[in-house]
Amino acid sequence: MNTTTLASITRLNPVSRTLPVLLAMEDDAEDVGRLSPDDRMTCHVHGRWIHQCVASPMHVNPITRHRWCRSCAIALTVSVDELSGIVTMSCPGCGHGESAASDRLIVACQASLAAARAQAAARVA
Ligand SMILES: [Zn+2]
Ligand SMILES: [Zn+2]
Repeated sequence: MNTTTLASITRLNPVSRTLPVLLAMEDDAEDVGRLSPDDRMTCHVHGRWIHQCVASPMHVNPITRHRWCRSCAIALTVSVDELSGIVTMSCPGCGHGESAASDRLIVACQASLAAARAQAAARVA
C-alpha cells in the first residue's frame, strides 16, 4: 500500500479513518519512529482499537508496568465506560497500583474510545 497516498486521502477526509486504515497508519508511523507504541490508538497484535483489547492478558507487562501493580505483583483490572468515555485501571489487591506506563495506556484507551465513537457517528450520519 502506498503510504503517501493513504496519508493524503485521510488528511482530506478524516472520516475515512476506519480502524484498518488507522491501524496501517499507526504501524507505518511506528516503523519509522514517529509514534511510540504507548501512544497507539490501535493494537497491532489484536487488530482492534486499544480500548477493546486492553483487558487481554497480553497487555500486562510486569517489566514496563503496563497494567501491573508492583506491590501486589498482579495485573490491574481495566474498566472501560463506553458511555462516558472514561477508562480506569486499578489493582484488585490494593486498589491502587498506578504507574506512568499505565497512565499512558489509559490516555491511549480514551483516545481510541473517542476515535471509535467518532467513526460510529460518521457512519450513522
Ligand atoms: Zn491488543
Ligand atoms: Zn496492588
